[in-house]
Amino acid sequence: MLFHSTRGKDHNRTFEEVLMQGLAADGGLFMPDVWPQVDIEKIKTLDSFIDVAKCIVPLFTKSSFSDDEVLELLDDTWHDFSKENFAAIHKLDDTKSILELFHGPTAAFKDFGLQLAAAFFNKSLLKQNKTAIVLGATSGDTGSAAIDACKRFDSIKSFILLPDGNMSEVQRRQMTTVDSPNVFTLRVNGTFDDCQDIVKQAFNERSFLKDDQFLLAVNSINWVRIIGQICYYFYASLKTNELKDPLNFSVPTGNFGNVFACYSAYKMGMPLNKILVAVNDNNILHRFFSDNDYSRSKVSETLSPSMDISIASNFERLLYDFYSERDSSICDQFYRNFPKSPINLEKHMWEKSKDLFMSYSVDDFSTVKAMKDTYASYNYLIDPHTAVAIEAVDQINEKLNGNTLILSTAHPAKFPEIIKDADLELSEIPKTLLDVYNLKERATHMPASKELIFDFIIKNNL
Ligand SMILES: *Cc1c(COP(=O)(O)O)cnc(C)c1O
Repeated sequence: MLFHSTRGKDHNRTFEEVLMQGLAADGGLFMPDVWPQVDIEKIKTLDSFIDVAKCIVPLFTKSSFSDDEVLELLDDTWHDFSKENFAAIHKLDDTKSILELFHGPTAAFKDFGLQLAAAFFNKSLLKQNKTAIVLGATSGDTGSAAIDACKRFDSIKSFILLPDGNMSEVQRRQMTTVDSPNVFTLRVNGTFDDCQDIVKQAFNERSFLKDDQFLLAVNSINWVRIIGQICYYFYASLKTNELKDPLNFSVPTGNFGNVFACYSAYKMGMPLNKILVAVNDNNILHRFFSDNDYSRSKVSETLSPSMDISIASNFERLLYDFYSERDSSICDQFYRNFPKSPINLEKHMWEKSKDLFMSYSVDDFSTVKAMKDTYASYNYLIDPHTAVAIEAVDQINEKLNGNTLILSTAHPAKFPEIIKDADLELSEIPKTLLDVYNLKERATHMPASKELIFDFIIKNNL
């Protein structure tokens, strides 16, 4: 199984190349050449998340790693997850359940994708006898999940840029309190866009790298992150009804990685009814699904910061696979003038989505209301991202047949200020989140200067 780009000019790549390169050379995103089919009968006989993952991950990795290597890696990948609640399902009522994806070390679902990414990065680096720098800008959960996933590997040094802005104190402390010689957090006096610009220039210039050193991105377009997420869709379907009846999934959505993993699971044989794309006021995806208008607008800061995006990068994969039916020339054409001009599909193409996708946009007021209502009705506390997904289900409930799983992407204790403002109370706080208040913050403060940040990396890239 090899991989190719959505824009048609980068093909025949191995899993390892896709892993280490991230973005395709023509600016597109990598896709598997075919959708591998999962042995559903075999999955039905399994019980644990890891065993399900062992049926799925090797379907993508054969071009670079033997199955034995991959199975061994998977036994040692998702560390520091709660054993009994790996991806727990909490039933709300007869038709709605919550899929709790926040029982990993950083209390957000990004641990699933990033721990798998880091394990494969390390495996590849050891094989090639090389080292790597991980460089990323973060406005929320990605940074802490990446730091946590990479910190145990000596082959990787992580440099994470934190902008001033819309991040909770817990989220910040999760990154700044890590005491590890290969982790560097930089608090940059600038916006998220300033930080991202510096990261982009870093990937172009690469001047601070040693010979033979990889520069790795941790953004959500890396295919390996999607693989890690596909696993919990199969696992959740197994646990809900042994993969018999198709389910609905309501997904709190930003960059579309999580939704695309759900779509991928469907293409690989998982029964599926509807995917509900739940967004906050940053509603480019809702405008597309409801109105065929995929046009960039300014980012607004909301109570669900990890979904504050102007463009949903992984959406390109859906445009390619689902709408263009894998015609890369169509996809390339779409992106030639985007985001300067919007993407609008031909009507017959756009209408395909109605069978599979629904969308809803939830503002901050309704987000808080959903947090309160969920607590009042079910005695269950949710974080603001999960609230967006629950509210979306309530709004379009009559159009959903069968059971719905609502993805809970972060633990409520990551957002104590918002919980308090909603007059709710945190009952339990995971130990990893309690600890960060007692640890010293050790970030380095930096102006938003490319030169100074590159210098800092060189000095610490020993
Ligand atoms: C990243 C994130 C999201 C959005 O996920 P995408 O895959 O980017 O759509 C939603 N909720 C939380 C808590 C997140 O960290």
